[in-house]
Amino acid sequence: MATKEELVKVIVRCRPMSESEHTRGCQPVLSIDGKGGSCTVTKQDSDRLGRKQFTFDRAYSGDTTTQHIYSDIVCPIVKSVTEGYNGTIVAYGQTASGKTFTMQGVSEPSTQLGIIPRAVDDIFKNVSSNKSQQWVVHCSCYEIYNEEIRDLLGKSLTEKLDIGSFPNKGFYVKATPSSPSALRRTGPEDKRTYQSGQTQPCGSGRSERQKQDWSRRREVQGRIKINNSSLSRKSHLNISRGQEPTYTLYRDSKLTKLLQDSLGGNARAH
Ligand code: ADP
Ligand code: MG
Repeated sequence: MATKEELVKVIVRCRPMSESEHTRGCQPVLSIDGKGGSCTVTKQDSDRLGRKQFTFDRAYSGDTTTQHIYSDIVCPIVKSVTEGYNGTIVAYGQTASGKTFTMQGVSEPSTQLGIIPRAVDDIFKNVSSNKSQQWVVHCSCYEIYNEEIRDLLGKSLTEKLDIGSFPNKGFYVKATPSSPSALRRTGPEDKRTYQSGQTQPCGSGRSERQKQDWSRRREVQGRIKINNSSLSRKSHLNISRGQEPTYTLYRDSKLTKLLQDSLGGNARAH
């Protein structure tokens, strides 16, 4: 059975109010109990009925630095990746909630450097301090939007990539030299064992580069997809009648397929 440290952890990071929110005279509605992991939203001018409390594994307020969150939450995952486990960090939230700030971050102040550069740094520190083992580090960066996959580090942003699968090994993105963001370790003390770990930071937002290059055409596609989702009730009816569904089922989603190794099996997902 998984220990508490190995279970999926859900944390919330609440950002401070922005300058424009201050300028518009917005009032804070959040109070955070870090230790209890709870976050309370209070409607202005309302009695207790206007309060809603949400509880997470941890809750961080606006004055918490990325450095703090990294050492609390992410550092143990990166460490276990170098020990051969899979690990995943998912940033999820609405636009302007702070996903890019948390994952990519800013270099000044250095306490707000993001999770991705910190994790890369830790991985390479580990590699260089552990000379008794051979390491191969792969890095890839994909965008999945409307179920279409593009390689953000590839030559062409227009090329849509397909998913392939190896028996027993799972899914991979075709036309790339390797499976996604894989970090592998082989131990000279036991050549027969082959451990693989992967760390997969992923954001639920769209990349800035993609936003610039693709926004107009994709906004239209996005709206079509959203409209399609309103067909889901019809799809349920189709399933119950034994017909093909017309929307993407959870297990068929490309994100789920590519993160399969990292979310199940030999994984510690947070
Ligand atoms: P998202 O990627 O979720 O759309 P961003 O990361 O771009 O959102 O954040 C929106 C704005 O809020 C940016 O200007 C960012 O610098 C600021 N911001 C987000 N989180 C914090 C934080 N914890 N502290 C200070 N500023 C933040
Ligand atoms: Mg963003």
